[in-house]
Amino acid sequence: MDRIYKDLVNLPGVSGQEKYVRAYMREQLEPVSEVIIQDNLGSIFGGINLDVDGPTVMMAGHMDEVGAMVQEITPKGVIKMLAIGGISPMVMISQHMNVVLDDGTFVPGVVGAKPPHLLRDGHSKQVSSFEDFFLDIGADDFDHAVSLGIKIGQQVVFENNYKESIDGKKIFSKAWDDRFGCGMALDIMKSVNKKELPCKLYAGANVMEEVGLRGAQTSAFKVKPDLFIAVDCSPANDTFADSMVGGVLGDGFLIRFYDPRAILHQGMKKFIEETAKKNNIKFQYYKSLGGTDAAAVQLSREGVLVCTIGMPSRYIHSTTSIIHKDDYLAVKNVILAMLKEIDFKKINEIKDNA
Ligand SMILES: [Zn+2]
Repeated sequence: MDRIYKDLVNLPGVSGQEKYVRAYMREQLEPVSEVIIQDNLGSIFGGINLDVDGPTVMMAGHMDEVGAMVQEITPKGVIKMLAIGGISPMVMISQHMNVVLDDGTFVPGVVGAKPPHLLRDGHSKQVSSFEDFFLDIGADDFDHAVSLGIKIGQQVVFENNYKESIDGKKIFSKAWDDRFGCGMALDIMKSVNKKELPCKLYAGANVMEEVGLRGAQTSAFKVKPDLFIAVDCSPANDTFADSMVGGVLGDGFLIRFYDPRAILHQGMKKFIEETAKKNNIKFQYYKSLGGTDAAAVQLSREGVLVCTIGMPSRYIHSTTSIIHKDDYLAVKNVILAMLKEIDFKKINEIKDNA
């Protein structure tokens, strides 16, 4: 996998504070794009093949990751946090996190856990709600914390502990959801063969997906796609339970046929299945209880054909998630294969196929 993926997961960017990720996206998109467009909320896309007489295809990851914001600094100098995105409080205790200062540097801290010695009296409990957590940055008091550059509203991100599994096939990291999709947008722009492309292509990434698919709503309005492909990490539950539709790491990309916000268009479903089969790309059917940017784009203007090409990933929305390199290739190959086929005729065929 290209180095861009590692670069991306190491950047900080909770929802609403994606500027470091956006700067990286811009830097990588510029050399391979005919135009760069950015909407008023900060989603960013590169466009290619724009003079072709063909439909407009948009593909996107999302730049934001789950994390926290500085909500308050106590007189003792510890930081109360506000959760950004869906994080289970279970994963917070004892985690290393970094406050991102205004100049982009990190102030490290740890989420304080009560030792057993302090829990013995039968009255005090280990905290279990986000409101009760605090981040200890080693400040002596409020003034010391402020003098270090800490301000209310700054983002707090998990310390990354990027590593590969012992067999070299899987990668552990924070923020696969969805720097993977950001990386894939760049990867596709770098590897697509323009001569084989019957469509205009805009690839990039949205802001604020984790707080209600906000960025996709405005970027889709700007790009006006005929067809939208969301590339996003979806939680595989294979280590928890056996399910035909729960996602298995290493078994191929996910066809998200149902989630509560978007039911896959039946013509799109057939198009993805046929393309994958024709090119011998492994896929799995996947049912989700969450939503992706596809749900927001689907309702843009007079409606848009959408799909989510899912990347199976274990333990997302926590400090560390795991992806499989084989699935990375399946996602990349199916998108490249789909793009080669999307002309006006195919768009009509998909619509008629429902
Ligand atoms: Zn996501």
